[in-house]
Amino acid sequence: MTNVHPRTTTPFTATVLGIPRIGPKRELKRAIESYWAGRIDASELHAVGRDLRVAHLTALAAAGLDSVPVGTFSYYDQMLDTAAMFGALPPRVAGIADPLDRYFAAARGNDAVEPLEMTKWFDTNYHYLVPELGPETAFALDATKVPNELREAIELGVPARAVIIGPLTFLKLAKDSAEGNPLRRLNELLPLYKELLTQLAEAGAQWVQIDEPVLVTDLTDAELALVEHVYGELSAVADRPSILVATYFGRPGAALPVLASTAIEGVALDFTSGTTLEDVAAIPALANKVVLAGVVDGRNVWRTDLDKALSTLGTLLGGTGSLVVSTSSSLLHTPYSLDAEADIEPTLRSWLAFGAEKVAEVRVLATALHDGTDAVADELASARAALATRANDPRLRDNTVRARLDALGPDAATRAPAADRRVLQQERLGLPLLPTTTIGSYPQTPAIRKDRAALVKGEITPEQYDERMRAEIAEVIALQEKLGLDVLVHGEPERNDMVQYFAEQLDGFFATANGWVQSYGTRCVRPPILYGDVARQRPMTVEWIGYAQSLTDKPVKGMLTGPVTILAWSFVRDDQPIEDTARQVALAIRDETVDLQAAGIRIIQVDEPALRELLPLRAEAKQAYLDWAVGSFRLSTSGVSDATQIHTHLCYSEFGEVIGAIADLDADVTSIEAARSHMEVLEDLNAAGFSLGVGPGVYDIHSPRVPGVEEITTSLREALEAVPAERLWVNPDCGLKTRGPAEVEASLRNLVAAAQAVR
Ligand code: GLN
Ligand code: ZN
Repeated sequence: MTNVHPRTTTPFTATVLGIPRIGPKRELKRAIESYWAGRIDASELHAVGRDLRVAHLTALAAAGLDSVPVGTFSYYDQMLDTAAMFGALPPRVAGIADPLDRYFAAARGNDAVEPLEMTKWFDTNYHYLVPELGPETAFALDATKVPNELREAIELGVPARAVIIGPLTFLKLAKDSAEGNPLRRLNELLPLYKELLTQLAEAGAQWVQIDEPVLVTDLTDAELALVEHVYGELSAVADRPSILVATYFGRPGAALPVLASTAIEGVALDFTSGTTLEDVAAIPALANKVVLAGVVDGRNVWRTDLDKALSTLGTLLGGTGSLVVSTSSSLLHTPYSLDAEADIEPTLRSWLAFGAEKVAEVRVLATALHDGTDAVADELASARAALATRANDPRLRDNTVRARLDALGPDAATRAPAADRRVLQQERLGLPLLPTTTIGSYPQTPAIRKDRAALVKGEITPEQYDERMRAEIAEVIALQEKLGLDVLVHGEPERNDMVQYFAEQLDGFFATANGWVQSYGTRCVRPPILYGDVARQRPMTVEWIGYAQSLTDKPVKGMLTGPVTILAWSFVRDDQPIEDTARQVALAIRDETVDLQAAGIRIIQVDEPALRELLPLRAEAKQAYLDWAVGSFRLSTSGVSDATQIHTHLCYSEFGEVIGAIADLDADVTSIEAARSHMEVLEDLNAAGFSLGVGPGVYDIHSPRVPGVEEITTSLREALEAVPAERLWVNPDCGLKTRGPAEVEASLRNLVAAAQAVR
C-alpha cells in the first residue's frame, strides 16, 4: 500500500449518490412515449428533459446538498448511455443516422432490429440494458452528454459532481458476443476513460463519482488486480477532477483496501447493507480519503434512525480524512416524495421517507455532525418520536398470525413423496400425455382496463365491475374449451398486477397513490409497502376461480402469487428478519390454497417469477436466502392434500444459480421460461436432480409473432430427448396479458395441434 496524499479538493458535507429521473409526475415517461408515437419532436423531448433536470438540480441544492450528482439523467438507461458514450452500440443500429433514434432502437428495437437484452441491476428491481461487445466494437469516446449536463448545472449555480459508470462495472455487466470475458477489453477502454476525465475537468468538474457497484460482488484475485490497475491509472491522469469511487448495494470487502491504496481521493460506502465500522477501521489509508458514508438507505421507504446513523458517523470521523453524509445508493429506487401522497394515514406516514425526505435526512445528519445536534434538535426529536410510535404500533404484531406460525410443526412444509402424489393426482385428473395449459393471464384488453379505471373513478359500481369480469372469465373459459386445452385458467382479468392484487387484500400492506419507481425505460411500478404483520381476513381469489370452474368440467388452475415474489416486488419492513415476513405471507397464501381446494379446485399454481431476483450478491449469503425462499414457498404449498396438484411458474432469468432450489420447491409441475434456450434449461434441471413435471415454454410471448405448429412440434420433440413424456407439459413461456386476443388464439391453436401431433 502506498501512502498517498489527496490532491487539493473542495470539501463537501452532504450528498446523495443519484436521483430518480422519470419526473415526479412521470413527465419524462410521457414525453418519451409521445416522442415514440410521433406526437412531439426531439426538441420538445429535450425541453422536457431539461426542465426536469433544472427542477431536480435546484431542488437538491435548495435542500442543502453541497454536492449534487449530475449525469444520471437518462432517456432510457445509464448503462445504455455509457455504451453510447464509448461507441459501443451494436452494429445493427449503426445505420440509423439520427442519434436519438439510434439510441432508442438499441433500447427497444424496431421493425428491423432487435433491442439489447435487458436484465436486473444487481439485486434491485431496476433493469439495465446489457451492452454487447463484439469483434466489431471499436470503442470511441463521444463525451457530450455528461459534460453538457455538468455545464448546465454549473450555469445554474449548482455545486455539481459528475457521475459516470466505472470501467469495471461497465465491462463486467456487458456481454461479449465472442463468449470471451468482456474485461479483456479493459485496456482499450481505459484510455477513453482518461480522456473523459480530462474533458470533465475542462467542463468544470471538481469531482467525478465513478460508480463501481460491481466491487460489492465476489471478485477473483485477477479482478482485484484490475481494480488497482484501473484506479492507479485513472488517478495518475494529470488534469482531472477529484475521483470518488462509489460502491453500493453491499460491502466492498477485499476491494476496499485495494481502492484505498490507490491515489483516488474518495470512496462511497454503503453502511445500510453490510459495510461495517470495522471495515473502515482496518484500513489506515482511509484516514487520507474522503469517505461518503451511506447511512440513509437509498432503496427502502423507511425513515432513518437518525441517532443510530449519527453514532455510525461519529465513529467514522476518527478514521477518515473527511466525512460526507450520503444515501447508501442512488435514490433511483425510491419514489420521489411523500408530498404526492395525500391519503396515507398520518401515523404510517410519519414512519416513511421517500426520496425528498431522505435528502432532508442527509442534510440533518450533516448539520448534526458539523454544527452539533442542538442545531437540529427538533428534527432529531421528531424522528425519534416517529420511530417510537412505529416500534409500539399494534399493527406490527398480529398475535394470532404469530401463534399460528409458531405452532406449525417441521412437517408443515413437507408433502408426501412426489411419486406418490403423482399417482393420486393422475388418478383424479386423468390428463392426457403432454397436457396443454397456459401460465395464467389472458390479454388485458383495453375494455378490461377501461372497466378498472371506471371502477376506481366510481363510474361503475363494484357489482357492475364484477359482472364485467365474470363475462371476461366466461369468454376465456369458452375460448380454452374451443381450442381444446387440457388445464384451463380463469385469465386473471380482475388483477391489475400480480403482487398489488394480493397486497390490497392483505393486512400489513398499503398502496401508495403516486409512489412510482422506474423499472426500465419508461416503465414504472408502484410497489406496495409491507409495514406490519401480514394477515388474510378472507379468501382473495376463490370466488373468481370457483366461478371459472363452475363453467367447465376440465380442471381450472387456481392462480396465486408466491411469497418470495410478493416480497421482491414490495417495499418490505426493515424491523424484522425478512424470513419472518416471508413466513407470514406464506401462511396467507397457504390459507388461500386450502380454501381453493375446498371450493373444488384440483390444481393450484403459485407463481415465483422473482425467485432469482432476491439472490444475494455474495456467495456466502446465498444459501441462507435459498433456505428461506424455498422454505416459504413450501410452507405456502404444503397445506393442501397430496391429490391437489401444485404448479409453479418461473421466468425473467438465467436460472443457473437457483436451479437446485427449483427442485427443492417440490412443486408437482414447474412451467419455466425457456423459449430461447429450451434444452439448456431442461439439461440444467436434470443435472440438478429435478424429476418432477416440467413445462419449458414452447414459444416466446414477449413477441407478437405467432409460432407455427412445425416449430412447436420440433421444440417438443427436442424437449422429449431430455424429459420423459410423463413429465412434460406444453405451455407458452409466460402469461399472455400483454398480447392481443387474435395472436393468442392463433398461437394456442398451434400449441394444441403440436401437442396432439407429438402425442
Ligand atoms: N400468472 C401470471 C401471468 O400469467 C404470471 C406472470 C409472470 O410470470 N410474471 O400473468
Ligand atoms: Zn412468467
